[in-house]
Amino acid sequence: MTKKIVVLPGDGIGPEIVAEAVKILEKFREEGLNINLEYGLIGGAAYDETGTPLPAETLEMSKQADAILLGAVGGYKWESLDISVRPEKGLLGIRSELNLFANLRPAILYPQLADASTLKPEVVAGLDLMIVRELTGGIYFGQPRGIRTLDNGEKQGFNTLVYRESEINRIGKVAFDIAAKRQGRVCSVDKANVLESTELWRETMTTLSKSYPDIELSHMYVDNAAMQLVRAPKQFDVMVTTNMFGDILSDCASMLTGSIGMLPSASLDENSKGMYEPIHGSAPDIAGQNIANPLATILSAAMMLRYTLDEASMADRIEKAVSKVLDDGLRTADIYSAGMTKVSTSEMGDAVLAAL
Ligand code: NAD
Repeated sequence: MTKKIVVLPGDGIGPEIVAEAVKILEKFREEGLNINLEYGLIGGAAYDETGTPLPAETLEMSKQADAILLGAVGGYKWESLDISVRPEKGLLGIRSELNLFANLRPAILYPQLADASTLKPEVVAGLDLMIVRELTGGIYFGQPRGIRTLDNGEKQGFNTLVYRESEINRIGKVAFDIAAKRQGRVCSVDKANVLESTELWRETMTTLSKSYPDIELSHMYVDNAAMQLVRAPKQFDVMVTTNMFGDILSDCASMLTGSIGMLPSASLDENSKGMYEPIHGSAPDIAGQNIANPLATILSAAMMLRYTLDEASMADRIEKAVSKVLDDGLRTADIYSAGMTKVSTSEMGDAVLAAL
């Protein structure tokens, strides 16, 4: 059956980088991959045309799709708009409407780029870890929440950290399944010594692990995990954690690699339908100049092939092609260093295509 892919280029560098990933998907289609690409508007581009950052038409086509490839949203032009119609609202809207509860954020440092990290090359060279973050529960969504005035007139802000067993189980399963395709190790990150909701998280992960005898489960408190990520990040294979801890740890992990233009991400629902996007934003400072790094978006397309389209060998080919162009010394401006060959966005995309 034909798989439907919705392409949402968005704003800033979004259209430039998405075009390079689409070139690769089109090549696979020519080789027989049964996909159909359909384009939609999101973010500032959608606001300009329709008055809303997430038009009903985009949402509807995304609901019907098997996967979504997104560029990025936002930019100076829309910064003064009311928050309800800002480009970022479109992104948050689509994530929650599609119930994308599992956020996969790999942090991979290609050995060729070890100098780009702020850490010593021997600490990070060859880093390949996957953070699985729960995305639709926890303290960002828990009720009650708000700011109230106490009897003494003082204001008090409050939020609620809640997790149900079913929510923990479903994110745990995603992490265990991914670990089964990697090195077979899951580190569950919590604060079970202080927070009851994460005490339940730890208990539930431990029970779940009994169904995965080949996976090694360990537990770590979040403060230690933050420390270990910068001390010895290569000890981790898959980390699974709550929404807020994952928000913080995944940004920390991505910076270990020093190159924001290299990192893809996926957000999945219970049926492995997913939205795939680079972790970076719309980079309005370099938009329209054909100098942005398209590799994060190209690697997001590889994740789409692996996790939604079940085409692991095509995903492998993309990842190997990226490694090959880096071996050949090709670099966009953001990862350029002396002695390498500086290339544009489209030249980088063409080089990956040729290396396939
Ligand atoms: P950003 O990630 O867009 O840019 C940060 C820096 O990294 C900039 O100097 C930029 O030029 C550079 N950069 C980012 N991606 C690059 C790439 N592929 N190649 C080369 N350089 C790259 O973050 P920001 O500047 O804080 O935000 C800009 C806009 O993007 C804002 O409107 C923000 O709200 C939005 N944003 C969107 C997303 C998203 O769509 N997922 C994520 C983060 C920020």
